[in-house]
Amino acid sequence: MQRLNNERLHFGMNRIFLAPALLAASVSVAAATVLPPQDAAVAAPPKVAQAPKVAGPKLVEPRLRIGASGIKGHARVALTFDACMGKADDRILSVLIRERIPATIFVTARWLKHNPQALQVFLQNPDLFELENHGQNHIPAVDKPVSIYGIASAGSPEAVRQEVQGGADAMVAAGIAAPHWFRGSTAKYDRSSIVQIREMGYRIAGYSVNGDGGSLLGASVTEKRIASAKDGDVVISHINQPTHAAGEGVAKAIVDLKAKGVEFVRLQDVEDMGDDQTTQ
Ligand SMILES: [Zn+2]
Repeated sequence: MQRLNNERLHFGMNRIFLAPALLAASVSVAAATVLPPQDAAVAAPPKVAQAPKVAGPKLVEPRLRIGASGIKGHARVALTFDACMGKADDRILSVLIRERIPATIFVTARWLKHNPQALQVFLQNPDLFELENHGQNHIPAVDKPVSIYGIASAGSPEAVRQEVQGGADAMVAAGIAAPHWFRGSTAKYDRSSIVQIREMGYRIAGYSVNGDGGSLLGASVTEKRIASAKDGDVVISHINQPTHAAGEGVAKAIVDLKAKGVEFVRLQDVEDMGDDQTTQ
């Protein structure tokens, strides 16, 4: 039954796609003078598609680097992980603990609420984990309405404040030290939201290596990206998608980097340099 329905659907779609082509063919045969307006109509859609981009706020995705060790064969790298929503990825968490790898974890209020066990693991290893603010509800910290990767932004300064403050309040309520860093959902901001978040007392955490492409990349490409981190790099990846292949690559890359003699540091332990006035 399912297959039959699919076939019907495809058949129906073919008919829909065929119809304009047939119509265009018959029009061009009937009257050649109709062609220029048709061409103009064909050229119009890209203009329409670009219009919202021009109208929307200018977004930045700031870069963050840390002070390099400057010693050959002794690269210093900050691993940062976002816990947006969903669960905890034990493939990554267990490697961090077994190998005693320090890392900075950005948590949302939403993630904290559903992962009390993982939170306890973080809190029981204060020498390894620095916990920082990833917002209250994983809403992009942009103060004008815009959709980013299909997620609606906060849309106003008040909503940005709520997202940032709500995340921090939930952390403190959960027994975590007050955060000093903020990283918004999607890691994108507009200039005025950056100013606002800085005025609230936070540094804004960009990154320099996108490790897992929002946890959507395959295991081997993720491993390769993260394992290529150089002296002074800040790696972003995700620790909240245990069913995604990317997490397997993240776990392997951590071991790869350790084998190369990399020194792992947390953001609170080193000098930092962020673009777009995110830290200076
Ligand atoms: Zn996130």
